[in-house]
Amino acid sequence: MRPDILFPLFADLTSLKGIGPRLGALLKKHTGGHVIDLLWHLPREVITRQAIEGLAMVENDSIITLNVTIARHQPPARPKYPYRVHCQAGADSLTLIFFHGDPAYLLAQLPVGADRLISGRVEIYGSQYQIIHPDYMLPVEKRDEIPTYEPVYALTSGVTSKVMRKAITGALARVPSLPEWLAAEDVKQRGWPSWHVAINTLHYPQGATDLTPDSPARARLAYDELLANQLALAIMRRSGQAGPGRAVAGDGRYRDKLLAGLPFRLTGAQQKVIAEITDDMHNERAMLRLLQGDVGSGKTVVALMAALNAAEIGAQTALMVPTEILAQQHFATLQSLLQKGGLIGDEVNISVVVLTGRSKAKERRAALEKIAEGSAQIIIGTHALFQADVVYNDLALCIIDEQHRFGVEQRMALASKGKAINMLVMTATPIPRSLMMSAYGDLDSSRLTEKPAHRQPIQTLVTRQDKMAQLLDGIKRKCQAGAKIYWVCPLVDDSAVLDLAAAEARYEDLQGIFGTDRVALVHGKMKTDEKETAMQNFINGPAQILVATTVIEVGVDVPTASVMVIEHAERFGLAQLHQLRGRIGRGEVASVCILLRAENIGEMARKRLKIMAQTNDGFVIAEQDLALRGAGEILGTRQSGLPELRLADLVAHTGLMQAATQDAKTILATDGRLKTKRGRAVRVLLYLFGRDRAVQNLKSG
Ligand code: ADP
Ligand code: MG
Repeated sequence: MRPDILFPLFADLTSLKGIGPRLGALLKKHTGGHVIDLLWHLPREVITRQAIEGLAMVENDSIITLNVTIARHQPPARPKYPYRVHCQAGADSLTLIFFHGDPAYLLAQLPVGADRLISGRVEIYGSQYQIIHPDYMLPVEKRDEIPTYEPVYALTSGVTSKVMRKAITGALARVPSLPEWLAAEDVKQRGWPSWHVAINTLHYPQGATDLTPDSPARARLAYDELLANQLALAIMRRSGQAGPGRAVAGDGRYRDKLLAGLPFRLTGAQQKVIAEITDDMHNERAMLRLLQGDVGSGKTVVALMAALNAAEIGAQTALMVPTEILAQQHFATLQSLLQKGGLIGDEVNISVVVLTGRSKAKERRAALEKIAEGSAQIIIGTHALFQADVVYNDLALCIIDEQHRFGVEQRMALASKGKAINMLVMTATPIPRSLMMSAYGDLDSSRLTEKPAHRQPIQTLVTRQDKMAQLLDGIKRKCQAGAKIYWVCPLVDDSAVLDLAAAEARYEDLQGIFGTDRVALVHGKMKTDEKETAMQNFINGPAQILVATTVIEVGVDVPTASVMVIEHAERFGLAQLHQLRGRIGRGEVASVCILLRAENIGEMARKRLKIMAQTNDGFVIAEQDLALRGAGEILGTRQSGLPELRLADLVAHTGLMQAATQDAKTILATDGRLKTKRGRAVRVLLYLFGRDRAVQNLKSG
């Protein structure tokens, strides 16, 4: 149970003074519904309102605070004009400007001849200085009412900065004094403040440096969050592995047959990765390994080799996939590979079953029986694999395909179906290591860095959209040489209708140039059979150019396609561009990808396109993407199964992530049930970050 000391922080926001139901609802949507959520809502920047002497050194558009004497009021000459108040600051003059100003109010606030302290954003026109609607205008003796350093928060409609400030001040007043969960030596050595001081420092910053990622206060809070995250993952992992480990070391009899029957030679990368996985399964420590490899790099056969290793000792493998379709696809692929290896027959029979939410009752019963008695060695399925009534005879290996579609809970649920389960997580989405660690804690990884042979590298060019005429010349030559060309139309504004219109316009254009037969069109609004016809027309028919909205169906495989044009490439994200580009370069001819861009594009877009032109390596692209965009956006956190981090920044704090992972290990190794004084403080940390489930799992540690 959450300790009493944290109750004030987990109280509803509306328990704070001045936050009624209406404001409470707005804030809840914006920051979260508890007092603690306000504390985690850190300022984005800080405005310095230190008073200055005169206007001489002031820069345009900066925030200034200075003493003035009110010289003259100038009411508007016409109703729509602003109200002006002219002031003197030493030898300089400054004009305050008010739209819809109430003259009586302004005269009372700013009487002629009085001294006032003014603070606001200054605009400079030649030698004219002006401030539109100053943030503060106070008698000089009230200077204390202007904060020297004013934090700026992300706001939402209906929540002004004053309201936010007040809410956060209220929340800070509730902060209890918590026991220190970090080791005293570490805190001292790193020069970090206590949690209490850190949270106050960030909300009452004394300058911009307090808010930078490496400021002691910010680093401390980020570290706390990462430590809670890594501890929780380590505890969950440990509780899933209670009891002694188990070596899964087959004699190779099935794997040898599979290899002998394979229609291709394994790539060097596949061999290396298979060896890493086998070694890992051979020892008694339960495996937790990530297998990363681009689409088409050949992960399926690697998975099958691991499953056969388990089958050789009479144990079972569960292969979990996000969709029914993928389950059926894997089933067909594995059946075919096993067949070729002579592993389906009277003498040797590796039995594969599929279990999904859609399985019919009778099929399902039959499958469950085979799973329970152990005659099914490989079980492919969706989340149906870990439902309560699925009982495995002897589950030794879980393989999860497209891992980012599953959350921690689902992985744990599957792992709980056996003892000391070995876990292999496969993904085609290259995910930077720091992100992976935030989702898994400490894990090993294997990478398929090489694609099966005969694949040609892709050359990527960036060209301006207005050079279309030259591009079309080039495309003509490619067409004459028989090339198959994907032409991807721009994303328009999140709107499927406009996307379609752009694609149709381009389609007609290109038909006009190359002839009706030569150009086909696919888009998301087409019926399946229409799509099929268009695709066939492109794959086997006369069409050489396939115009498409971005929804070229996942898995489209046209090995002869060797050119891709992407219009307005600046509107696409890096990951998306990489996925699109992955559809060429699959055949035996050299491929080229042309990224068309608008003339004027932002710095960010320019960098993205440059990265695309420089590398085909999905991992490099993912790392750069993380650096450019930050973790939150990479996968869309909610769908990704990655935990949401509010204080840590996985780009700026990678070093802290590594330290947190290591420290989590040490803490659990020395005080596995968190019983010591520090251990109890660490429990508070876990509750503070909402890791209640991890604390509940401590018992089984
Ligand atoms: P992914 O990594 O996307 O899951 P797959 O395992 O589906 O990739 O493999 C993609 C294609 O490449 C399949 O048709 C597979 O049979 C083939 N393949 C796998 N390994 C090799 C290899 N070493 N040589 C040639 N083709 C291979
Ligand atoms: Mg695959």
